[in-house]
Amino acid sequence: MRAARYYGRNDIRIDELPEPEVGPGMVGIDVAWCGICGTDLHEYLEGPIFCPTPDTPHPISGETAPVTMGHEFSGVIYELGDGVGDLRVGQHVVVEPYIIGEDVDTGPESKDYHLSRDMNFIGLAGGGGGLGEKIAVRRRWVHPVSDVVPLDQAALIEPLSVGYHAAERSGAKAGDVAVVGGAGPIGLLTAAVLKALSVTVVVSELSPLRRQKALDTGVADYALDPREVDVAQEVRRLTNGKGADVAFECTSVQVVLDTLMDVLRPTGVLVVVSIWGKRADFDMHKLVMKEIDLRGTIAYVNSHPATIELVESGKIDLAPFITGKIGVDGLVEEGFETLIHRNETAVKILVSPSGEGL
Ligand SMILES: [Zn+2]
Repeated sequence: MRAARYYGRNDIRIDELPEPEVGPGMVGIDVAWCGICGTDLHEYLEGPIFCPTPDTPHPISGETAPVTMGHEFSGVIYELGDGVGDLRVGQHVVVEPYIIGEDVDTGPESKDYHLSRDMNFIGLAGGGGGLGEKIAVRRRWVHPVSDVVPLDQAALIEPLSVGYHAAERSGAKAGDVAVVGGAGPIGLLTAAVLKALSVTVVVSELSPLRRQKALDTGVADYALDPREVDVAQEVRRLTNGKGADVAFECTSVQVVLDTLMDVLRPTGVLVVVSIWGKRADFDMHKLVMKEIDLRGTIAYVNSHPATIELVESGKIDLAPFITGKIGVDGLVEEGFETLIHRNETAVKILVSPSGEGL
């Protein structure tokens, strides 16, 4: 089978590999679609970050570079390993792509397995990936999805789960007003979850094309240009002087962090969703005087079932976020290069590793 593998910075190759062995407790999945993520771009341009190097194996997966890439994928079960009795061949599934130590409690009540030591991701630190034609995954991380959800849209459930967990971390509830700073893929999908929870969403975004996308997809009630309007003033106007209940930082840009501190009402909650590669400058006095709650969020934890339900019930339509479909041969030239150089119009580019469905 063919798979895109990460060898190191600026070095991704399409290799011919043996099919994975579907061992006991594992599920064999024919990958249908795999999204390209900002994290993949960071590995390509600046990595290895999550990926192992050729000489230091990941402590849990035991794998070194090269590793198969791709962690946002959907597929169809082709084989069940011994002991897996609650799924069937032919079933549509998505994967919660965790690499987590065997000794960690990953049960349905756990709220912190994603924060366990050396946590990493399938498709970054080993375990195969969605940019290969087939993958074998432990039953724990396989989530069935109803056939009413097309497989291309199902590939977006993984990044949508990031938005779900961020929304959950904020404590936002129906009737609240949220400000989302940045309308890239994660900003848009976080907004989609908030809208599904009946929260009023204000997006602040520099790019006119991204603002338009936020409005066209219906995930934002208002899309503001921070160069044109004073976002904090506008949010106060929209909330009768009160300010926003929650805010989501989805850019890792200092000025956005500052703006979101200003849009919040006293006792508001600021959730930092983006990955910061540098230290931020922080107005601590403002945090104290407004009693603002600052919260981090990373990935997801037992978030997939509820996220899948939002999609299956039709509360979230993922179709408008798919902006391209390519084969694995075009991964770097058509996929990565588009997202790096023309990221205003591209939201999610999906890859078909087998070429089926293109
Ligand atoms: Zn991702």
